Amino acid sequence: MSKEKQFVTEITPQGEDFSRWYIDVIKKAELMDYSPVRGCIVFRPEGFALWENIQSDLDRRFKETGHRNAYFPLFIPESFFQKEKEHVEGFNPELPWVTEAGGEKLEERLAIRPTSETIIGHMYSKWIQSYRDLPVLINQWANVVRWEKRTLPFLRTSEFLWQEGHTAHETEEEARQETMQMLNTYKEFAEEVLAIPVIVGQKTPSERFAGAVDTYSIEAMMKDGRAVQAGTSHYLGDKFAVAFDIKYLDRNNTLQYCHTTSWGVSTRLIGALIMVHGDDRGLALPPKIAPTQVVMIPIGPPKTREQVVGRVDELFAQLKKAGVRVKVDDRSDVSPGWKFNEYEMRGVPIRLELGPRDMENGQAVLVSRISGEKRIIKQDQLLEEVQRMLDEIHADMYNRALQFRSEHFYSVETLDEMKSLLEEKRGFSLAGWCGSDACEKQVKEETGATSRNIPFEPAEKKTKCLCCGEEAQHTVVFARAY
Ligand code: AMP
Repeated sequence: MSKEKQFVTEITPQGEDFSRWYIDVIKKAELMDYSPVRGCIVFRPEGFALWENIQSDLDRRFKETGHRNAYFPLFIPESFFQKEKEHVEGFNPELPWVTEAGGEKLEERLAIRPTSETIIGHMYSKWIQSYRDLPVLINQWANVVRWEKRTLPFLRTSEFLWQEGHTAHETEEEARQETMQMLNTYKEFAEEVLAIPVIVGQKTPSERFAGAVDTYSIEAMMKDGRAVQAGTSHYLGDKFAVAFDIKYLDRNNTLQYCHTTSWGVSTRLIGALIMVHGDDRGLALPPKIAPTQVVMIPIGPPKTREQVVGRVDELFAQLKKAGVRVKVDDRSDVSPGWKFNEYEMRGVPIRLELGPRDMENGQAVLVSRISGEKRIIKQDQLLEEVQRMLDEIHADMYNRALQFRSEHFYSVETLDEMKSLLEEKRGFSLAGWCGSDACEKQVKEETGATSRNIPFEPAEKKTKCLCCGEEAQHTVVFARAY
């Protein structure tokens, strides 16, 4: 078997075992490794670079909408959790505790933060006195810990990296606007940067964030038809303000509670982009997030090598100067074919090949990772051609993901219909729901699918509940989820 073939066959095909494929790809592409601590992963440089690119784009968007970054402590006193009843009930089972430090038992146990509403609420009550102090618009980039029972690299880990926005406002209206603004920021980011189409909507009460009045989410479909909740935005009402005494003197000199919000996305996004775009050859990275956007590979016999490599270096300098993330692989101990497979497996969006004949003709060859399309271009138009191809690859990846989603999106009337659909096929089901917990529970018990959200723009409006047949209060997207 040729070296190229061996390389590819190390990745389990998606159709054979999707979970195995996922693990094979992330390990082979050196994105992560397992750690000695249960449910915690190591982000290797290739994986961390993806997070850095996600961070820098989102950070810019947050700042453009008036938010500033700050940092709060990792440890949260136990008494803080007791202040908001639903919050403590929701998070208690997942909290790790520090009970001893410096060789002494602590007077009060400290939780390792699972999210920071409590400690930030405590601080906001000190910082906010008057309407003039509002709004407070703060974001934190941090790690959090939730002791998850079931874990999967990136998608669900016990320790994960994320950002959490926490804002305080004078009125409900303003806080609700903020909640929607950030939800929309996540939607735009998912589509414009990750090339992932998302379903935007409201969570049902059973899926709400612990302590929130309303939770909204963006939901994405993976290539095995499962859902990933890719981001959430919460309107917290005055619940945390009451619990933590976040009050301000309003314009009429009356004391009022603030209305607060919180919103977050995590390193789960890395898992989502792998499962949405990857294929049997490995990773396929959307150009805006790819640590390397173009890999340049000189080809041809040794006697022309020096000349080709020289030209490749010149073209490299041009692209780099223009801000393209580009890399040259001029190793002579591995064949070009081996390199082609390697960079395809690593998901690099464009491969540029340059050989002696291209040199003579002033040309170069660009190859798209996602479609395999080969394009012969003029060297003196390299930058424009690369930029155009990167844009086209983004659009191509988004459209492929959208098409996959439409092909696996079903409209169902009854639970039986949904069950038989899920047995044969994978995907999302759009169905009516009466609004009762009992019916939602029944769907979960009988199909393993949970309500993902109540989409703002459903493909159609349902009139009957899929379980009890009573009048539908909502049209809901159901799916098995990661
Ligand atoms: P939440 O605070 O529960 O609304 O979660 C905020 C963000 O973190 C959402 O985008 C979740 O999908 C994500 N998230 C929640 N739990 C985990 C986990 N165990 N691992 C990775 N991401 C998570």
